[in-house]
Amino acid sequence: MNAPAWGTHRPYPVATRWYERLDLENGVTRFWEPHVHPLEQANFWHIRGRDRDLLIDSGMGIVPLRPSFPDLFSDKEVIALATHTHIDHIGAIHEFEQRWVHGAEAHQMAHPSGVTTLVCADIHPQLAGLFVEAGYPPFDELLIDAMPYEGYDPRQYRLRGAEPTHLVSDQDIIDLGDRRFEIIQLPGHSPGSICIWEETTATLYSGDLIYDGPLVYEGPGMDLDIYAQSLRRLKAMPIQTVHAGHDPSFDRARLIEIVDTYLRRWNKDN
Ligand SMILES: [Zn+2]
Repeated sequence: MNAPAWGTHRPYPVATRWYERLDLENGVTRFWEPHVHPLEQANFWHIRGRDRDLLIDSGMGIVPLRPSFPDLFSDKEVIALATHTHIDHIGAIHEFEQRWVHGAEAHQMAHPSGVTTLVCADIHPQLAGLFVEAGYPPFDELLIDAMPYEGYDPRQYRLRGAEPTHLVSDQDIIDLGDRRFEIIQLPGHSPGSICIWEETTATLYSGDLIYDGPLVYEGPGMDLDIYAQSLRRLKAMPIQTVHAGHDPSFDRARLIEIVDTYLRRWNKDN
């Protein structure tokens, strides 16, 4: 029998575990939260370095992240970097001493606005309509389809803001001792959206600029002309692997396909 579609379980079951984790080669771990609505079900990435580790995004913050993975978050310094400040990317960033974000979203990280609860009725109906039109499942009662533990009250959840401790800019280098990452500012999905580029592995951590699912490009802080420009820049980079903010990772051929599809859809392909 097929599993029921997302969000149709009632009453809400208690999840056996909240986070899923996939250890990839090269010291990279992917995390995601399977019981979060697909729109807000982000990937976030832990990368081991010799001197310090890098955490790219941090999920919704429904369950504390750090204590969930003591083998990854030990005494070593961790730079928690946000690709942008939507709810599904900064939820647990307050748990970390090093909280980095692009300057254009510093205020938003400290004082989040927009979607900041798990209650679907709090999403503006017009915005919810755009998401469904883009291809996401309808919004029911909550942005989760299971409870993280017995007695959890999803109505008490609030996205917790955190003051950034460092502001990044385009072309900044993050040095983990034995590997280096470059910040590339690629706005459009949000004003301070960044991607993180590892040249030696030709890997791009793309945040929400590009992923292999319905891109969200209409909403507060989004700009189609700028988005198209950023997508064109991706095509010019020697990217071989994209570890994206949502959905499975993909290769260069798929990257070109996705970029071309959207540029055509927006009439910005010439
Ligand atoms: Zn986003």
